[in-house]
Amino acid sequence: MIGLTGGIGSGKSLAAQYFAELGAFVIDADQLAREAIERGSKGFDEVVSIFGDSVLLNGDVNRSALAELVFKDSSLKLKLEGIIHPYVKKKFESAVSSLKDNEVLVYEIPLLVETKSQDRFDLVVTVESEYETRVERLRSRGMAKSEIDARIASQATRQEREDVADFLIENTGSEDELLRQVENIWDSIIETF
Ligand code: ATP
Repeated sequence: MIGLTGGIGSGKSLAAQYFAELGAFVIDADQLAREAIERGSKGFDEVVSIFGDSVLLNGDVNRSALAELVFKDSSLKLKLEGIIHPYVKKKFESAVSSLKDNEVLVYEIPLLVETKSQDRFDLVVTVESEYETRVERLRSRGMAKSEIDARIASQATRQEREDVADFLIENTGSEDELLRQVENIWDSIIETF
């Protein structure tokens, strides 16, 4: 069981994709959190009853509007977490129990340090890259600079992630360089276990 973390825009998802290509069973905490409140789900109905129709856009939950609301109000944040967390936990546990012998689970979990989840994993990998590169990647995804800075400030620091990590991926070069680092970690995991 590998916990894969890193700051926003550091390259976690791409690293996770490479782990999957090498044979890992990958799940993504953010993806599960999206599923928890997608249209037609119980979570969706709960979100609408708490936050009202104003958080909907074309019939779906507008996740950035929701994020903005809970970012400013910690009691609303707790309510939203009360909807999302039980679903994510259930899905994570069911993935763990479906693992086959010798299968490696990689769980992409951005807020590993913030949720003190490191002890749930045999190994922790953190993906880090420079501030400017992250800003550039996130801006090309349409995020405003002020939003990016607020998110980075709300997350654990690079040092805090490195303190709990067994492996550090420095995603400061090309995609190939990232792949090579993932391959090295994969080889050493396979050797160790
Ligand atoms: P988030 O925290 O928002 O989920 P993330 O850490 O999962 O982000 P990715 O989605 O993997 O980050 O990467 C952000 C963007 O940067 C993606 O478009 C990805 O393809 C690109 N990217 C990541 N690493 C590299 C790299 N080494 N070279 C070029 N592009 C990269």
